[in-house]
Amino acid sequence: MMGYGYSPGLSEGALKPPLFQTSTFVFRNAEEGKASFELAYGLREKKRGEEMHLIYSRINNPNLEVLEDRLAVWDGAEKALAFASGMAAISTTLMTFLRPGDSFVFSEPVYGGTEFLVHNILPQFGVKGVGFMAEGGETGFREAAMQAAALAAKNGGKVGAVYVETPANPTNGLVDISLAREISENLKGPAGRPPVIVDNTFLGPLWQRPLQLGADLCVTSLTKYVGGHSDLIAGAVSGQANWVGQVAVLRTILGTMTDPHTAWLLLRSLETLKLRMDAAELGARKVAAFLEKHPRVKSVWYLGFLPMDHPDRALFERQCVTAGSTFAFEIEGGEKEAFAFLNKLQVIKLAVSLGGTETLASHPAAMTHSDVPKQSRERLGITESLIRLSIGVENPDDLIADIAQALDV
Ligand SMILES: *Cc1c(COP(=O)(O)O)cnc(C)c1O
Repeated sequence: MMGYGYSPGLSEGALKPPLFQTSTFVFRNAEEGKASFELAYGLREKKRGEEMHLIYSRINNPNLEVLEDRLAVWDGAEKALAFASGMAAISTTLMTFLRPGDSFVFSEPVYGGTEFLVHNILPQFGVKGVGFMAEGGETGFREAAMQAAALAAKNGGKVGAVYVETPANPTNGLVDISLAREISENLKGPAGRPPVIVDNTFLGPLWQRPLQLGADLCVTSLTKYVGGHSDLIAGAVSGQANWVGQVAVLRTILGTMTDPHTAWLLLRSLETLKLRMDAAELGARKVAAFLEKHPRVKSVWYLGFLPMDHPDRALFERQCVTAGSTFAFEIEGGEKEAFAFLNKLQVIKLAVSLGGTETLASHPAAMTHSDVPKQSRERLGITESLIRLSIGVENPDDLIADIAQALDV
């Protein structure tokens, strides 16, 4: 990945890809301009050995292209696309495959922005989602697929997508990606089958590889682990060229791609991605072990602690390489005790988001999931005493000391 997709010889010998901060690219002659647009609009097939020229930074740009080539390496994908945000990637992807009358299946809980898109925006376009609980296992998933198929038949549409977020935020509930694929195969109609789309933000790209597990498209918020320094917003979609190519058309027209500077920052980030994720994973393991033994901690929702007889244990071992470094725990008490803990932290910062070099703590019920009605929050396990941690790359002993003093009453 490190040197892939970039040749210094093409850029004055620059070791690092320069920042191509330009909106448009000059054609050598009018014929080249014509050929470029024929390919961009799909008016003809590429000739043997023909390369797509650079045209305009909404369509392509060297920083985006190098980034996308390297993201594809990480995900084991044929093709990847970079977006302005994780939500730009998710919304552009869903809008690519869904039309009025269509329905789709989605796992719950999902990221707050995705939840808003699914519940408030897509229905305005005549698209209905049928949710199922990540924790509910196979039966609920299959029932939701049947319901979605019935809805589509009634509304004259199709089931257009199987959308899965696993592990789920903030509960770390798991969804079986190979089962999602099987369900998609069963939903196959005259127009083909719906793509299995997996939001891999929590464990990707290192600790879970959805495309190898049966997913067609992998969506990632690059804002989190991939960006990794809490200084940018971006997203990605990867998968086989036949699926990704369809999303690329809509991205060009909606203009939801990322910009050259953000892509350039992400190229820097990718070089230390494995080092950062390794360090954070090790730190999370130590912090989780400390919390589990603490008398003021009621439960620790760390995937590595799934009991051997838990229904998700085998799935975790099949699907995830490690437990990652974002997890939640419940403090004894309620909101008052949780807030007191958060306010006492000194090293760990109180902020939403995750996957940065610094450790962050947040209160899902009052923050990221506050728009979820209280009843649904309880059903999803997002209680008043739940605290989410995203472990960074600091010395884990410093983090443990901070948590220990904040738990002291
Ligand atoms: C943050 C996040 C998103 C949205 O990404 P943005 O870059 O903030 O738009 C989507 N899914 C998950 C799981 C996330 O954590």
